[in-house]
Amino acid sequence: MITVPLDKLGEECGVVAVYSNSRAAPLVHRALFELQHRGQEAAGIVSTGPDGDFHTERGLGLIAESLPLHRIEELPGGRAIGHCRYSTVGPERNIQPFLANTPYGQLAIAHNGNIKNAAELQAGLQADGALMSTTLDTELLAHLIARSHAPDFPSALQHMAAAAIGAYSLTMLCAGRVYALRDPNGLRPLVLGEMKGGWVIASETCALDVLHADFVREVEAGELVSIGPEGVTSTQLLPQAAPSPCVFELVYFSRPNSRAFGRSVNAARIAMGEELAIADEEAGVAGPAIVVPVPDSGVPAAIGYARRSGQVYEKAILRSHYVGRTFILPDQDLRTAQIELKLSVIDEAVRAKRVILVDDSIVRGNTSRQIVQMLRDAGAGEVLMRVASPPLAWPCYLGIDTPDREDLIINRAGSVERVADTLGVDDLRYLSVEGLRRAAGGGRFCMACMTGEYPV
Ligand code: SF4
Repeated sequence: MITVPLDKLGEECGVVAVYSNSRAAPLVHRALFELQHRGQEAAGIVSTGPDGDFHTERGLGLIAESLPLHRIEELPGGRAIGHCRYSTVGPERNIQPFLANTPYGQLAIAHNGNIKNAAELQAGLQADGALMSTTLDTELLAHLIARSHAPDFPSALQHMAAAAIGAYSLTMLCAGRVYALRDPNGLRPLVLGEMKGGWVIASETCALDVLHADFVREVEAGELVSIGPEGVTSTQLLPQAAPSPCVFELVYFSRPNSRAFGRSVNAARIAMGEELAIADEEAGVAGPAIVVPVPDSGVPAAIGYARRSGQVYEKAILRSHYVGRTFILPDQDLRTAQIELKLSVIDEAVRAKRVILVDDSIVRGNTSRQIVQMLRDAGAGEVLMRVASPPLAWPCYLGIDTPDREDLIINRAGSVERVADTLGVDDLRYLSVEGLRRAAGGGRFCMACMTGEYPV
């Protein structure tokens, strides 16, 4: 058994909002557990009751640590929003939801995404006398709303959106209502569900399922959803831009039991594996082999590859579920610290075999290199690697934590052949951009980290 660092892009946040005729905070709490994979470093919940006051609980760490249930059960009110965060840069006050007093009432706001022109916005706001209490983009959004001089809250959001460029799926509480807003490109996911006695909005459908809520629909790009005593109202607040949902939600970020952008995440990942097998068929790559997933991220694609190619699927690499999690402290230096996994290879399964190793993506390549070495040490005859996404060559400015360009293995190595040499595999093939698009169900997506073509 060896310890290897997790080499993945990092989703940065999950958001939830509940409007309910029962206590909302415990429901948000349950939903956040389902979104834990989107953010493991900090979490917060804000609720409001009939008195209109905000009640807040927040902390560092996993939901179970940061938001103990007995504290959440004390949060009153039938409206609440919640947030979990992948990386907390700066002090504890950076934990969301962010609270602000605005001319429209007290505002609580939770943000999944990233504002590309945050530095310019911050400079402009500070030049205008704004005092910043955090380093969050979310605070900039709150300032833009509060300083808009707009006649009402929705108009203030329009004013904010005219200034803030980038990705945002927001959940908000203001003046006793629950709001949700998605950026004009629909970059990050956001879904609406109906449950007994209320409504829920969340980053992923898996968070609806845990509340036994029925999926109603996605919040549309540029749409403002507002929930009050009369139910849900919808406004196309912002003109829709070219739709650009993040394809990496389908490749890696979202839970396999979620639906994203109209597609089952698991089915999309299986289709990615099938596309890899089709490309191998077309390239004449043949011969008996076993198809081995990198756990757990490569499993659906390996199933798809094996199904399409007729090769044997073999779970020959095991991940220990009993390894303690490496806690990552919330400062910039430690932000890049690696979460550790412990993997083992079943020697008998791979000895003298031709192994087709399948993973969803390769970022820096350090994990893949170690896994390939483990397979070699276990006696694998030949190791071919198949990657269910195109090479990651560009950073993401739209809400995903990516390494510097020069740290991405495809840029460091310079070509796919050299990446294969670096990893120590006999053959390496990535899914094509078109293959990924087909597997994702067609249509337009953001694929900027693979193509360099940024939607905003
Ligand atoms: Fe998603 Fe990549 Fe686009 Fe970022 S650049 S939003 S990770 S597809």
